[in-house]
Amino acid sequence: MTKGNINVSVENIFPLIKKFLYSDHEIFLRELISNATDATLKLKHLSNIGEAKIEYGNPQIEIKVDKEGKKLHIIDQGLGMTADEVEKYINQVAFSGAEEFLDQYKDSAKDSGIIGHFGLGFYSAFMVADQVEIITKSFKDEPAAHWTCDGSPEFTLTEADKTDRGTEIILHIAEDSTEFLEDSKISELLLKYNKFMPVPIKFGTKEEALPLPEDAAEDAKPEMITVDNVINNPNPAWTKQPSELEDEDYKSFYRELYPMQFEEPLFNIHLNVDYPFNLTGILYFPKMTNDMSIQKDKIQLYQNQVFVTDNVEGIVPEFLTMLRGVIDSPDIPLNVSRSYLQADGAVKKISSYISRKVADKLKSLFNTNREDFEAKWNDIKIVIEYGMLSDEKFFDKAEAFALYPTVDNTYYTFEELNNRIKANQTDKDDKLVILYASNADEQHSYIQAAKDKGYEVLLLDSPIISHLMQKLETSKENITFTRVDADHIDNLIKKDDTVISKLTEEQKAELDTLLKEVVPADKFTVQIESMDSEAAPFMITQPEFMRRMKEMQQTGGGGMFGMGNMPEMYNLVVNTNSNLIGEILETKTKKKQERLITQSLDLARLSQGLLKGEELTNFIKRSYEMIK
Ligand code: ADP
Ligand code: MG
Repeated sequence: MTKGNINVSVENIFPLIKKFLYSDHEIFLRELISNATDATLKLKHLSNIGEAKIEYGNPQIEIKVDKEGKKLHIIDQGLGMTADEVEKYINQVAFSGAEEFLDQYKDSAKDSGIIGHFGLGFYSAFMVADQVEIITKSFKDEPAAHWTCDGSPEFTLTEADKTDRGTEIILHIAEDSTEFLEDSKISELLLKYNKFMPVPIKFGTKEEALPLPEDAAEDAKPEMITVDNVINNPNPAWTKQPSELEDEDYKSFYRELYPMQFEEPLFNIHLNVDYPFNLTGILYFPKMTNDMSIQKDKIQLYQNQVFVTDNVEGIVPEFLTMLRGVIDSPDIPLNVSRSYLQADGAVKKISSYISRKVADKLKSLFNTNREDFEAKWNDIKIVIEYGMLSDEKFFDKAEAFALYPTVDNTYYTFEELNNRIKANQTDKDDKLVILYASNADEQHSYIQAAKDKGYEVLLLDSPIISHLMQKLETSKENITFTRVDADHIDNLIKKDDTVISKLTEEQKAELDTLLKEVVPADKFTVQIESMDSEAAPFMITQPEFMRRMKEMQQTGGGGMFGMGNMPEMYNLVVNTNSNLIGEILETKTKKKQERLITQSLDLARLSQGLLKGEELTNFIKRSYEMIK
């Protein structure tokens, strides 16, 4: 038997391990299973290249809970270690790894800035165990070894009588960690970290029904057998080539990833790159809602099929964190802080690769089946629009597939829209006016007025659309987005013929005085205009600029300070050429005139959705009186 002291400069590293990694004790299991997996795959490799003359078979990793004995066993059939190797890899290598890790993270480990604690490795076992044993038999023809350590720098190493190849790690679970003796806890951890690891992991057994024979009676019960409960899928879809996978395989993998998600994804993007970095994965576009915050943190990050985190901030471009799926890369530095991660060159490359790949996929979906793409547009636009806002390169690429739907469900690309309206939709400054509505019902009368004149009206209703319009206006030349209710349509769009007013200057002055007496000046700015006699006599509008600034403020426009709480100001556009105005002026009594104006104003407010509460009640009462 060998007794010795682990060569270590910090006398008591174990309490340190416990203290600094307090919040993440559970990762010990991931570390030990990773080691077991490594040992198994190494053996496979040695056997493949003929260096290990062994029967590889179908090795698995087994996890056993011994609740009475307060022990947890992790057993593999990998390459094992000789006594010398235990000395070397456990006492020296593993230990220096742990020490180095602690050195590096003494300060930062606490601020949870670390994702994944790869690197601590084997010694993370001491976070939950007060004694650890290794019983291991190498594939080489040497006796098995038995190492024990009670958490002090002292260890013992003796010969063992284990005859089958592989390693068994026994953790004597500490008093404060007995939760790791619960089957349910271990199950939970295995599913979280090891669900897609490449070697089968067995945890207990389960009952399974044998298939019934063809000639079985109607009421025959299937025979039940006990089988190993393998918790992982060693060959998840993302490790395969896209050519090996059908649409249905992608869908079933989605269900495997999100068992609680009943809605099918809209489409997927298979990532596969091996230069200048290694990365595989599958991203899914789910149906999006307009609430962007609730859909985050659904992408899972793996390193060689070991789960690391579901917070991929900094690795995946911000706008794509709304997607779902898996990213697997051995090249993402895992034990570094987030701020470092964002500055890391490799990570930046990964991020822009993903963004490019998503843009390419969207483009090809658009090109191969435009109809289908249009049908999905409303469920994906939020991601695309967000991407256009936050990522210049994506913005440029999106030119090819970003869509602008009209209120009548025609979907244009920007270029198509441009060509379509070029001829007849410009304003006084010769800027192209892109008319839009944000709500087809609420702005119905304004949409109708614009359509009656033959103009195209878009329906743009994403929560961030005001920011995107702002960006489009600055990046494209000579265009302006204007909501249909920003002004009277004839003021928004330039026409060749000027309309002559039916009223004399005197009558106009009279009308102005009348209106000022009835229309509250703190709410409306009166605008007397000469329009078509057909156009509405009274119309409430809200200038584009003010309204948009307000919207941008509400949806978090950076640098929009100083706008304060802008008051709700509206314009009241009064059409001098309408018959109603003529009638009002001809009406004899002042009281009657005022009544007509009040009623008209209320009708205009009603069509803007501005008439509410007591005012609405009064309006309805008054209207009934009038038709009696
Ligand atoms: P790492 O896995 O990063 O090398 P660890 O501290 O996890 O660091 O493990 C240290 C070393 O101990 C491993 O590199 C390996 O050589 C050896 N080892 C650990 N677990 C096993 C095992 N189950 N079978 C064989 N060797 C192992
Ligand atoms: Mg390890």
